[in-house]
Amino acid sequence: MSNDPDVIVIGAGAAGLTASTELARAGLAVTILEARERIGGRIFTLLDAECHVPVEMGAEFIHGKPPEIWHLLDRRKIPTTEVDGNNWCVKDGQLSTCNFFSEVDRILKRMDGRKQDQSFLDFLEDCCRKSNGRHRQEEAKKWALGYVSGFNAADPALVGVHWLVKGMRAEEKIQGDRAFRAQHGYADLIDIFQQELNDSAVPVQKGTVVESIQWLRGRAEVSARGPQGVMTLSAPRVLITVPLGVLQARADENGAIRFSPALPSEKLEAIGNVMMGKVIRVTLRFRERFWEDLPRFQKTNSKTMRGMSFLFSHDDWFPTWWTRAPEKVPFLTGWAPFHCAERLSGQTKSFVIETALQTLHRLLGVSVQELETLFEHAYCHDWQTDPFSRAAYSYGKVGGDGMEEVLGKPVEETLFFAGEATDTGGHNGTVHGAIASGKRAAAEISHAAAGKTKGRKPARIRASA
Ligand SMILES: Cc1cc2nc3c(=O)[nH]c(=O)nc-3n(C[C@H](O)[C@H](O)[C@H](O)COP(=O)(O)OP(=O)(O)OC[C@H]3O[C@@H](n4cnc5c(N)ncnc54)[C@H](O)[C@@H]3O)c2cc1C
Repeated sequence: MSNDPDVIVIGAGAAGLTASTELARAGLAVTILEARERIGGRIFTLLDAECHVPVEMGAEFIHGKPPEIWHLLDRRKIPTTEVDGNNWCVKDGQLSTCNFFSEVDRILKRMDGRKQDQSFLDFLEDCCRKSNGRHRQEEAKKWALGYVSGFNAADPALVGVHWLVKGMRAEEKIQGDRAFRAQHGYADLIDIFQQELNDSAVPVQKGTVVESIQWLRGRAEVSARGPQGVMTLSAPRVLITVPLGVLQARADENGAIRFSPALPSEKLEAIGNVMMGKVIRVTLRFRERFWEDLPRFQKTNSKTMRGMSFLFSHDDWFPTWWTRAPEKVPFLTGWAPFHCAERLSGQTKSFVIETALQTLHRLLGVSVQELETLFEHAYCHDWQTDPFSRAAYSYGKVGGDGMEEVLGKPVEETLFFAGEATDTGGHNGTVHGAIASGKRAAAEISHAAAGKTKGRKPARIRASA
């Protein structure tokens, strides 16, 4: 009798963890192979030992009220806090509270998912032609451009209006204009997953990089490099949840997976046609919340930045910043998306910190010397050079309708796919989108395995080096 698991799950991010626990609950024997020495993938929470504050390297915000996340948090009564505070803007070198949101909203609402698809950049040129030259409208267009390349980490010349509209509609249904944090950050969610893995005795082979999958209908052999060398593991079904960036990697690159036979051409086309956005984020801890007294040289009685939540600008390096409001802790996070991330990726941590401090100097009018005296510690992770993500998160290209469906479509009831890029509900690039994709894939696998469920057995792994 074989000791093979019923399902091998590749990747222990939100999608892989969700699918694994659902499959185990359905009575299937699951083994997870994870390249990193930790679970969570693009959820990666550190704890600042000095202030006991969770610091996120990847996902930070719970966008709205997605049931996929709230169901897990509510069941365990995990406390959450809603993001709160004032939004500040830097325009023409001047700091002020933002007053452009309604105009940006009006522009975004003019996107029409029923018209022929076009890039966001083309849409902006077409939609607001009549207003050319009107200063306020031109300014709103600039902020809208910043929003799309910032929030979605997308190239405005490539991202499709259809994909953006689908995302906006999906967000409206879950109060996506609100944002929350769990008490210990996204680590709370990972703890829940870890508990569920323990309860259902799902083994996770960490530090195990899958290199190839040989498959035929009903059978797949997965080769991976683990702590004990190269190992192979067989199962009738494999769920692949690695980031799209990993599926796009060249065969000789670290983390890449070779499929033999190759994946069907429609799948390869979809892999090539969905984009991965780039982001560098840096979280800086200061000695004190120095921005509380800003802006300097303000008029008496004018508002200070004491209650600041977000700071928006058109800066070339870190255009967006935020605090942990309503929590009053001395942390600022800088967000460098798209072109800014391209320039910062692969640079040393000290270059990133230096650039971040220079940016704050430009935006807040505080001298670099003063900022350096106040600065204590920085946290940052380069998701672009990380071989197991290769970028931040996915977005849809012009003319790419239906690509997520193709990305997630099972192959010969043997290879199954999940991960944020395969979500079909308009929630790509989010934790709840990844969870939804894991649930969808688990249902597909359970359905395919119906009637063939075996008793739970330990996985058989042959170490050959
Ligand atoms: C900087 C940043 C900020 C973000 N902010 C937010 C936010 O505020 N809110 C939000 O909802 N979402 C946010 N996201 C997106 C969110 O983190 C992701 O959409 C989600 O975590 C993806 O989950 P996943 O399971 O699809 O992929 P992943 O979490 O990437 O999991 C895939 C797993 O596969 C593993 N793997 C890769 N290659 C191999 C291999 N060859 N062999 C074995 N294992 C392999 C990886 O190590 C990883 O653990 C952010 C992401 C980033 C990068």
